Amino acid sequence: MRVELLCTGDELVTGLTPDTNSPYLEARLFELGIKVTRVVLVGDVREDISRALCEAAARAEVVIVSGGLGPTSDDFTAECAAKAAGVPLVEDARTLQFLRERAAKRGRELTPNVARMALVPEGSEVVPNPVGAAPLFIVRMDGCRLFFLPGVPREYRALVDGEVLPRVRTELEKQSERTHRAFRLLRTVGIPESVLDARVAPLAAAHPRVVFGFRTHAPENQLKLMAEAPSQAEAEAALAAAESAARAELGLAVYGADGDTYTGVVARLLTEARATLALAESCTGGLIASQLTAVPGASSFLIGGTVVYTEQMKMAWAGVPAELLERHGAVSSPVAVAMAEGIRAACKTTHGLSVTGFAGPTGGTAEDPVGTVYCALATEGAPTRCERFSISGDRELVRLFAASYALELLRERLLTAPSAP
Ligand code: ATP
Ligand code: MG
Repeated sequence: MRVELLCTGDELVTGLTPDTNSPYLEARLFELGIKVTRVVLVGDVREDISRALCEAAARAEVVIVSGGLGPTSDDFTAECAAKAAGVPLVEDARTLQFLRERAAKRGRELTPNVARMALVPEGSEVVPNPVGAAPLFIVRMDGCRLFFLPGVPREYRALVDGEVLPRVRTELEKQSERTHRAFRLLRTVGIPESVLDARVAPLAAAHPRVVFGFRTHAPENQLKLMAEAPSQAEAEAALAAAESAARAELGLAVYGADGDTYTGVVARLLTEARATLALAESCTGGLIASQLTAVPGASSFLIGGTVVYTEQMKMAWAGVPAELLERHGAVSSPVAVAMAEGIRAACKTTHGLSVTGFAGPTGGTAEDPVGTVYCALATEGAPTRCERFSISGDRELVRLFAASYALELLRERLLTAPSAP
């Protein structure tokens, strides 16, 4: 089924309001196995809206239109719909009565501009709005059904859920040769997008029903798997096979799927291991602490942490010996190790995690230029591990990846080592 979305409103094409109605509906439709084929945004210009309606109706079987049904002078979508369908606007008696009663309840007369909301293209099906004034109306044009909804997100969603989706579902069930879809998002960290692509792409040939897609959302790279088949069972079986092949190839780099969050996964691993954590952060300036404390229940594993930005505080709060700082500099492996071990000892935790690096744009040394970051993990009863990373990008990106790489040391240890007593 070809479904297109059309949103009207100057605010959507002038950077004032981002279109949030479309993503909401796209996700709901995708749950039904429908991938929206096109989304169009049009400003408040009559000819543009009418033309966009005609074009969409010519291409699609279902068009869902949002906005411009209100009482103000910039609301003229019903007028454009009538023009596109080649019919006059007529007054819907039931809506007019509803609007009159609604006004009376508020102690007002029905004004002519509010009464305009009862005007709909002749022959359309009119459905009352359960949470607002302007009704939903459905117009048929050349084998296409166009649903017109108010733009206010709360009203749009109520009508989508209560009226549009049930009708689309019924239509879908009538089609014998429909495409069924199943979808999985695998979330990875620690491997660049190009490497992810190179490792996964060879699998695609063995899974012809699955589309492999990639998306970057730093510091994550995501693999999207979408299976299409003539039945839901076949789509799900094809997806499961592709997913297990991708997981086997990527191993620990896959930290989660679909709605999982990275810090949520780390928090769960720490909680399951009954482990505690302390942090000594330099260039990340508390970013790791901030990310972890965003997870509800973080107090069960996060004991505390310090931002030790200067050498003085690295000595005072993380117990880094002065001679290490003198001999190796603050951005070095021995100092990262001392920070992790020092903070773990001070906070008496299972794990101590540290980060020290050059976030830029200035600073760095010949051996350790801007973007060099050392992360260390000290764990009770295990040797301390320290890794050096070279991160390219601006200051924000260096800090973001530094936090991610540090947490990766922890996640790997939690997954591979037996948990500490
Ligand atoms: P109203 O009765 O409020 O005039 P309407 O159907 O005419 O309803 P619009 O005037 O287009 O709708 O928009 C009403 C409000 O909803 C505005 O604040 C607008 O910013 C918001 N809105 C409209 N379309 C969208 C959209 N696609 N995504 C998010 N917000 C939207
Ligand atoms: Mg309006």
